[in-house]
Amino acid sequence: MRIVLLGPPGAGKGTQAVLLASAHGIPHVSTGEMLRKADKDGTPLGLQVRSILARGDLVPDEVVIALLRERLQQQDCDRGFLLDGFPRTVPQAQALNRMLVELHKELTHIIEIAVPEDILIARIRSRGASGSGRSDDTEEVASKRLKVFWEQTAPVIEYYRKSQGVIEVDGLGTIDDVATRIGAVLQ
Ligand code: ADP
Repeated sequence: MRIVLLGPPGAGKGTQAVLLASAHGIPHVSTGEMLRKADKDGTPLGLQVRSILARGDLVPDEVVIALLRERLQQQDCDRGFLLDGFPRTVPQAQALNRMLVELHKELTHIIEIAVPEDILIARIRSRGASGSGRSDDTEEVASKRLKVFWEQTAPVIEYYRKSQGVIEVDGLGTIDDVATRIGAVLQ
């Protein structure tokens, strides 16, 4: 299985990605996690992206595309992978397509976790209040990430809808509810 999981910040995408990847024994490839680790470790990449992550903006396409290319060429991705947080722009989706054709690893499933915007805003507020410990999880930065999603990532969903097709899964309910729905569409 070579899956792309799409959805707005606050949709529970990261949580579902971890469950899904472990259920299918495939690596969970999260560009957000890779970038946050680079930032924490203070690598040259981390220093380059630190202020971008803190603002909730997107890291330049060429940087994340190179990062992902390297990751997909690692051996564990031979048995499949789950992409979480990539692609986030149409040029990233186009680059991913070219890359996967080249590697003979075309996508098998594109899944969108759909959650209405008013609910996302409410979730962001309560997350910001409780504090996840993630430096980009303040209410202000989370709102910025949601705005960036509508502007740059919603068009990616359209792009896939017109080409490969997107499986839409309702993101409301408990973690288990959503996991069950995703499991069902992968049967
Ligand atoms: P979320 O919790 O919104 O799913 P992620 O953990 O996927 O967030 O990503 C956190 C941050 O890392 C993003 O706000 C962005 O700055 C950066 N990032 C992650 N993936 C990408 C990408 N594909 N393109 C550009 N920036 C990215």
